[in-house]
Amino acid sequence: MIDVLSSSQAMELEHKFGAHNYHPLPVVLSKGEGVFVWDVEGKRYYDFLSAYSAVNQGHCHPRIIKALVDQASKLTLTSRAFHNNLLGEYAEYVTGYFRYDKVLPMNSGVEAVETGLKLCRKWAYEVKGIESNKARIIVCTGNFHGRTFGAISASTDPDSRTNFGPYLPGFEVIPYNDIESLRKALSDSNVAGFMVEPIQGEAGVVVPDEGFLKAAAHLCKDANVLFIADEIQTGLARTGMMLACDHEGVRPDILLLGKALSGGVLPVSAVLADDEIMLCIKPGEHGSTYGGNPLACAVAMESLKILKDESLADNAARLGEILRRELRNIGSDMITVVRGKGLLNAIVIKPVNGKDAWDVCLKMAEHGLLAKPTHGDIIRFAPPLVITEEQMMECVAIIKRSIEEIQK
Ligand code: PLP
Repeated sequence: MIDVLSSSQAMELEHKFGAHNYHPLPVVLSKGEGVFVWDVEGKRYYDFLSAYSAVNQGHCHPRIIKALVDQASKLTLTSRAFHNNLLGEYAEYVTGYFRYDKVLPMNSGVEAVETGLKLCRKWAYEVKGIESNKARIIVCTGNFHGRTFGAISASTDPDSRTNFGPYLPGFEVIPYNDIESLRKALSDSNVAGFMVEPIQGEAGVVVPDEGFLKAAAHLCKDANVLFIADEIQTGLARTGMMLACDHEGVRPDILLLGKALSGGVLPVSAVLADDEIMLCIKPGEHGSTYGGNPLACAVAMESLKILKDESLADNAARLGEILRRELRNIGSDMITVVRGKGLLNAIVIKPVNGKDAWDVCLKMAEHGLLAKPTHGDIIRFAPPLVITEEQMMECVAIIKRSIEEIQK
């Protein structure tokens, strides 16, 4: 057994023995703290992806790690065949935090999505009165809700879908950010829900027009259709408010959370809804071995407390403004668009000298900042929300220098 692998050895092993379902930047990380990660050779980087917004509280936040370790030494998993002493406390805490009657705990983000879809269908048949097997759920072009059959059946991304059919029926796709299409789709009385990301993260941080979410929620209410917000990436202070829906005063009927609910230490997700909806699911009808485990409950409570104790939403709002302003000030014709909200941001890169967004990311990595291109020409900038103004200015300098060197 080799004690310490070099980056190239670690990548080689991963390539040889791991499935090829990702295309990572060639960097091998072995340590994280706050906004920083280190590779196995000891080089330090700013993390500008935050594990797709799972590490909002910063890497290895000491309070989260303490909650994890303390709980891990007592009890980690009972399954739901028995009660554990933390699930009730967590359920009270998380429902009070987001003001819902009930929570259904799951693990990965996409399990929250699946749960939301199932809950919506149950409600459609048992409360709304839609004829059996006729319920439809409206989703948007460019969405990303995860990788299960439910999520890919709702997807419009060929990479996510090709040769995975047949797909789950019952979805209707409308253009994102198009209130008239939503209005039209809602005229079908078999529509049970509208599932939407308040900002489309994986699509490249696509921010809808101001007022879209509010108008959509109103239309859903009028049509007796559930507004399902997938806040797995946008929630938990990332966009400068606790939820991205909060920017427009929208309260989703079903709220999906994941990622930063554990501050990046283990998969913890949640579905929140009021009794009229949540109590449609009865014992034996849905669940998960790990969902609601005491380790997850302890970690999630601490992760949520930190968001408030450290005013991370305010920090995201303030530093997001600074980041976008400074990115625009770079004034490079390689950066054609700067967009985002809070600390969920993206730039669109126009290739220059045969160099594209991937090359920019490699150059930034060389200078100590990690970000990942998406859709070929978009780079997302989403650092941990604990970043300071001084660190942000250092990051802007790295981005500027990298673009300038690429353009030379
Ligand atoms: N929904 C959204 C909006 C996401 O961004 C993601 C992941 O990126 C998911 C769902 C799926 O979460 P997970 O990868 O934890 O299953």
